[in-house]
Amino acid sequence: MKIKGESLGATERVKRWVRNDIRSMQAYHVPSSEGLLKLDAMENPYEWDENIRDAWLQILKTISLNRYPDAAAHALVQRLRKVMGIADDLDVMLGNGSDELIQIIQMAMADEGRSVLTPVPSFVMYEHIAHTLRLKFIGISLNKDFSLAVDKMIETIKREDPACVFIAYPNNPTGNCFNKDAIDKVINTTNGLVIIDEAYHAFCGDSYLDRIAEFENVAVMRTLSKIGLAGLRLGFLVGAPTWLKEFEKIRLPYNINCLTQASVAFALDNYSIFETQAQKIRSERTRLYDALKDINDLEVFPSQANFILLRTHPGKAVEIHQALIKEKILIKDLHKPEKSAQENLLVDCLRVTVGSPEQNDLFLAALQKVLQ
Ligand code: PMP
Repeated sequence: MKIKGESLGATERVKRWVRNDIRSMQAYHVPSSEGLLKLDAMENPYEWDENIRDAWLQILKTISLNRYPDAAAHALVQRLRKVMGIADDLDVMLGNGSDELIQIIQMAMADEGRSVLTPVPSFVMYEHIAHTLRLKFIGISLNKDFSLAVDKMIETIKREDPACVFIAYPNNPTGNCFNKDAIDKVINTTNGLVIIDEAYHAFCGDSYLDRIAEFENVAVMRTLSKIGLAGLRLGFLVGAPTWLKEFEKIRLPYNINCLTQASVAFALDNYSIFETQAQKIRSERTRLYDALKDINDLEVFPSQANFILLRTHPGKAVEIHQALIKEKILIKDLHKPEKSAQENLLVDCLRVTVGSPEQNDLFLAALQKVLQ
């Protein structure tokens, strides 16, 4: 091995220093959506009205960009507490999207021989982050009807003693909420922390927020991405100070920038706008679901989130996904050709975000065209 740095090329240096497991990973791929109707990422389809936009811009004008943001984001946390009804004895930690919170939690726990357990399929970042931190990832396959395989989970938890368990409620990409008794069993069995990920809370209504104090080992994570603020990147974790004060040590001091802090605080002052939009999305979800059910060639799964999971005829998902792109519509292809049907519950599956009525009509028309 050469010692003098200058004589090594970048490739050799990367090979020497970047961990083998990182080099063999794939970066999270976000497909280009240029020129397409974007129905792949569970975004809220609605823009703000002119008067709201103007009021927001007035606030942005007053911000000093030369100063660091408030590291504790006091004003924002106060509003979150009020709007979300967070009890005073619970702590709130903010993340640059809930992605970052998943990373912080896992960083706090990552150590030799530790593991993270989640049902699969679920949100892919739980696994991706576990790999980057060399935590063992244990995915427990859901049952065929997407319910929790609770006996298998309990048995595995007892054997593996995971540091944390992530449960998306409702689950992405299946759209269902798991049975609460089954979740309670998991919570009561594990020694680890159970993070109930309520990213899609606005479209389901049900929550664990009021139940955190019942347990020693539950934290609730939410994001403002799905209700209409995806571009601002704000997630929050609610839990007992005993847990959160440890996670705070890992959070970088200025992770929530000043534009996000001010914009989200403003949005929370106008929260009824988002509630009205979420209500519209819920009724569109019903309309879209019913319309999709009427299409013979599809299996459609009920959803409590702002997306719907579909299964096409065997071997057709990729083709339909591509044909929709030709029709200028981007949805998510979840079919993994390298996996067998038995090990992959998402075989032939596609996921579509619920859009505005006009967008959903465009999607339905395009889908009918490509299925002909
Ligand atoms: N949790 C779940 C279940 C998700 O589906 C997503 C986004 N797809 C996230 C968390 C991350 O959301 P964000 O980082 O935008 O807050």
